[in-house]
Amino acid sequence: MGEARHTRVLIIGSGPAGYTAGVYASRAMLDPILVQGIEPGGQLTTTTEVENWPGDTEVQGPDLMVRMEAHTKAMGCEVIGDIMTDLDLSKRPFTATGDSGTTYTADAVILATGARAKWLGLPSEEAFKGFGVSACATCDGFFYRGQEIVVIGGGNTAVEEALFLTNFASKVTLIHRRDELRAEKILQDRLMKNPKIEPLWFHTLDEVVGTDMPKDVEAVRVRHVDTGEVTEIPAKGVFIAIGHAPANELVKDQLETYMGGYVKVIPGTTETSVPGVFAAGDITDPVYRQAVTSAGMGCMAALDAERWLAEQE
Ligand code: FAD
Ligand code: NAP
Repeated sequence: MGEARHTRVLIIGSGPAGYTAGVYASRAMLDPILVQGIEPGGQLTTTTEVENWPGDTEVQGPDLMVRMEAHTKAMGCEVIGDIMTDLDLSKRPFTATGDSGTTYTADAVILATGARAKWLGLPSEEAFKGFGVSACATCDGFFYRGQEIVVIGGGNTAVEEALFLTNFASKVTLIHRRDELRAEKILQDRLMKNPKIEPLWFHTLDEVVGTDMPKDVEAVRVRHVDTGEVTEIPAKGVFIAIGHAPANELVKDQLETYMGGYVKVIPGTTETSVPGVFAAGDITDPVYRQAVTSAGMGCMAALDAERWLAEQE
């Protein structure tokens, strides 16, 4: 039988939204518990330089998240390394079960589970995941020193990954389905100026080609979106950078969602369709998806929870 813990505010997630909620809920004397999940620190731990966190001209993503964790703890938030496997929002107190076997009950819940990398869903992508196919350049770029690499996507993540990978690769081909990037102009500028990067417009990935023994990627087959012509490009590494989907597994059948699974909140608040449950950060935001907006929503969620709890008394 696992441990049983009760808290006034349970914060699920340890990205900028969760840690900021932890700071504010602690300062409101709500003695919150924050459960970190499988990725302590969240998405920013998978990147290098962050240049748009106010107050830091440049900061490494993992360092920023270590500082946020320390800040949250210093304010009195209990930070627990556990993963929620179940969350029951049908009755109060709300009940969550951790992978550790601990059962958490809470008067209010702040959901800050963020987002996870999307995959294309190709059988060959699945077959070579971890053997040449990756969604994290920071984690895996080092393995491709002197090799040719392809990156799929046209947003900030794809461009940043491509730029970062030039530290290792001999050549990076950025494959995008249009001829226009979504990435910020400053990143586009750096991409175009980098001699190691070659964009390939109007193409999608058809197949990752490789060997079985040893399991290694050798090339990618790409298809022109208009002509359908298939070309093979040599590559030892394939980085999929086509965006992120909300991590809503715990709540998708219990809370109202919109735009493909983002948790719906009352505009201008973090209140979800279940009173006492608040959502902050990328889990509820299909538009901005930034560290600073997530942190802002974490603050709002803690203040909303504080007010809601006071009204219940
Ligand atoms: P996330 O950071 O996604 O964190 C979610 C947290 O929830 C994680 O800790 C996870 O472990 C936890 N969790 C999930 N499921 C469970 C569960 N079942 N139980 C317990 N915990 C759970 N934004 C910028 O502003 N500037 C940048 O330079 C920038 N660079 C980026 C680079 C990359 C490669 C990526 C992927 C994103 C980048 N972003 C950047 C976007 C930014 O990282 C996100 O907007 C931000 O991290 C979202 O914060 P969040 O707190 O909502 O969630
Ligand atoms: P994104 O902005 O949603 O971009 C995803 C890219 O992948 C788009 O170019 C899209 O093409 C392409 N794509 C999607 N599905 C595809 C498919 N099935 N096949 C081929 N291509 C596909 O995602 P992101 O780049 O991960 O960024 C997510 C959020 O994090 C954004 O808000 C971003 O600003 C933020 N972020 C910020 C920074 C920063 O501030 N430096 C860094 C990284 C991320 P189309 O363009 O044709 O739709």
